[in-house]
Amino acid sequence: MTNTLTEPRLIGHFIQGSTVQETQDELLDRRAPGTDEVVSRVLRGSGHDVDQAVQAARTAFDTGTWQHAPGMERYKLLNRVADLIDQNAARLAQLDAEESGKPIVLAEGDIAGAAGLWRYAASLALNIQGKSFTSNGPDFTGLVLREPIGVTGLIIPWNFPALILSQKLPFALAAGCTAVVKPSEFTSSSALEIARLTAEAGFPEGVVNVVVGDGPTGGAISEHRDVDLVSFTGSTATGRKVVAASAGNMKKLSLELGGKAANIVFNDADLEDAAAGVVFGVNFNNGECCVSQPRLLVQEDVADQFIAEVAKRTAQLKVGQPLDRASDVGALIHAGHLDHVSSFVEGASQHGGEVIVGGERLTGGEYGNGQFIAPTIIANVTAQAPAFQDEIFGPVLTVTKFKTQAEAIALANSVEYGLANSVWSKNTDTLLETAKALQSGTVYANTTIDGIPQMPFGGYKASGVGREMGEAGFEEFTELKSVNIRTGKRAGTFPIPASLAGGASVPQMTPRD
Ligand code: NDP
Repeated sequence: MTNTLTEPRLIGHFIQGSTVQETQDELLDRRAPGTDEVVSRVLRGSGHDVDQAVQAARTAFDTGTWQHAPGMERYKLLNRVADLIDQNAARLAQLDAEESGKPIVLAEGDIAGAAGLWRYAASLALNIQGKSFTSNGPDFTGLVLREPIGVTGLIIPWNFPALILSQKLPFALAAGCTAVVKPSEFTSSSALEIARLTAEAGFPEGVVNVVVGDGPTGGAISEHRDVDLVSFTGSTATGRKVVAASAGNMKKLSLELGGKAANIVFNDADLEDAAAGVVFGVNFNNGECCVSQPRLLVQEDVADQFIAEVAKRTAQLKVGQPLDRASDVGALIHAGHLDHVSSFVEGASQHGGEVIVGGERLTGGEYGNGQFIAPTIIANVTAQAPAFQDEIFGPVLTVTKFKTQAEAIALANSVEYGLANSVWSKNTDTLLETAKALQSGTVYANTTIDGIPQMPFGGYKASGVGREMGEAGFEEFTELKSVNIRTGKRAGTFPIPASLAGGASVPQMTPRD
């Protein structure tokens, strides 16, 4: 049952291999979403702290120890961190569940997934490849080298603290980059623990740094001229601020932003299986998940039967304390977010919607002063309603009926986001045609919120820029350098290759004295 850690933890920065707790920074109290008790006190980092961390990461990069470390050395250290994450899994899961409000069983899954990501990233460190071109005559060799981009700023949200950190940090490290990590002020503890594990594993000082604090700290990283890349996960609104802040030094960006996935259920689907998937898809991680599936689109002729099954399963979900192993749905991240989620439920009827399950805030008894809401279904939701268009980020499902495949695709694509969608049918033609027509970086077919680290993850449209995980995610942390090598005996002349001249006949250029 509930087993809150007793003393509030003091969460400081981790810079140049040491924890920094003695500073002039203010402290931010982190209240556990399940109990409203203060469980950690987080330093409110300043621009000065960001400077220190960036300086440490810059020096560690420029000295070259890490960027030029043999791939096998990086592979070993990254794997060692994975082993240490496994050894510390119970504590890391407890920290993430307690601070984020997610059910402990899911937090345990996150930590196992995090260790897997460190192992997969380790394998990439062994296999950094470029290209060579020998197709421009005997005197020309073109090499395309892949190099680490440099100092990276990794800004992590609160919904998957250790897991999203592990979608970024080990990939940056595998490429030879150094890092300044900024966890959310709500969920900083596991990032600090993992940073300490990198030191224990033997990473050189300054390669991994963590600055804790709130939005201004992330802003300072985004605009810092000595940061070469920012990888950010969070809202589209904050993503736009990161884009603006990055302009100073034209840093490279990788942005994983919001989502508003649809779960399209055709009349020939296995309806029992699809109902289980729909209920899981929207309530997983309290609905606080960028690939959450909050829009059910169901074909009209099976809609009533299907909605009844989804409603029955939703009403059976156990909402409870995050540290209770029996909880299916935990507590939302903070009171302001509970207000945000509730506002869509309260406003549903203005747009013709009807709350058919849940909707109420849960207080008293085992819920105490925590931030709980009953899993909710809003029926008859039109494509114009805010609940259909905007990111709710809670356990709230909207239901909309469709007649044809074309209508379902148009509805799914009618939002500004394009991160993920699901489609359910026994007909593989229907699955594939629909998957191809959906404007999203991921499509789940007869499954939901599924995947492996080898597959790239990211968004179309306002859901982001770039990819995480997979080889594509790894390559985000690299630069390409073309090295054109002239060999042979043509000293003194520099022929313009026919390829650059577009095939036209061009005079040869002779260098000046
Ligand atoms: P934000 O996108 O504002 O915050 C996410 C991360 O960005 C946090 O680490 C935050 O730090 C940091 N941050 C805040 N301001 C800046 C800035 N100017 N520059 C750089 N980094 C910054 O999300 P919120 O926590 O405010 O949640 C709002 C909504 O965002 C949610 O309701 C949900 O819809 C969406 N969201 C999406 C996520 C996803 O997985 N795609 C994850 C989280 C939220 P800090 O928290 O310390 O201020």
